[in-house]
Amino acid sequence: MADTRTLFQKIADGDIPSDMVYEDEQCFAFRDIAPQAPVHVLIVPRKPIPELNDLTEADEQLVGHLVTVARKLAAREGLAAGYRTVFNCGPAAGQTVDHIHLHLLGGRSLGWPPG
Ligand code: 5GP
Repeated sequence: MADTRTLFQKIADGDIPSDMVYEDEQCFAFRDIAPQAPVHVLIVPRKPIPELNDLTEADEQLVGHLVTVARKLAAREGLAAGYRTVFNCGPAAGQTVDHIHLHLLGGRSLGWPPG
């Protein structure tokens, strides 16, 4: 049978190796393979929602949880000077993996506006 898991589900299952930094029943987090900052972690819900446009009211607690995990990981990673959280949505924003994920970036000065 065809494997319908997303890339990030394969990472959660351990079928693709990763540097996992956090796991709970709702989400998991690992270091980005191509980091754009000294700290670059992806926080991913276990539920494989393809993009932000697929969110429903039923997902509000889950998305809030992802942000709370980002806050905890930022503290753990020593990002007291500041950090950025980003959801890319759609090709124009650079989304490349169709399973929503919150980027946590920090450890350097981050320009604004983003590219
Ligand atoms: P997006 O561009 O969809 O917002 O973010 C996808 C992110 O996933 C990118 O920053 C990319 O570097 C990261 N990524 C893609 N494949 C892998 C992988 O196999 N392992 C890890 N750790 N990160 C990946």
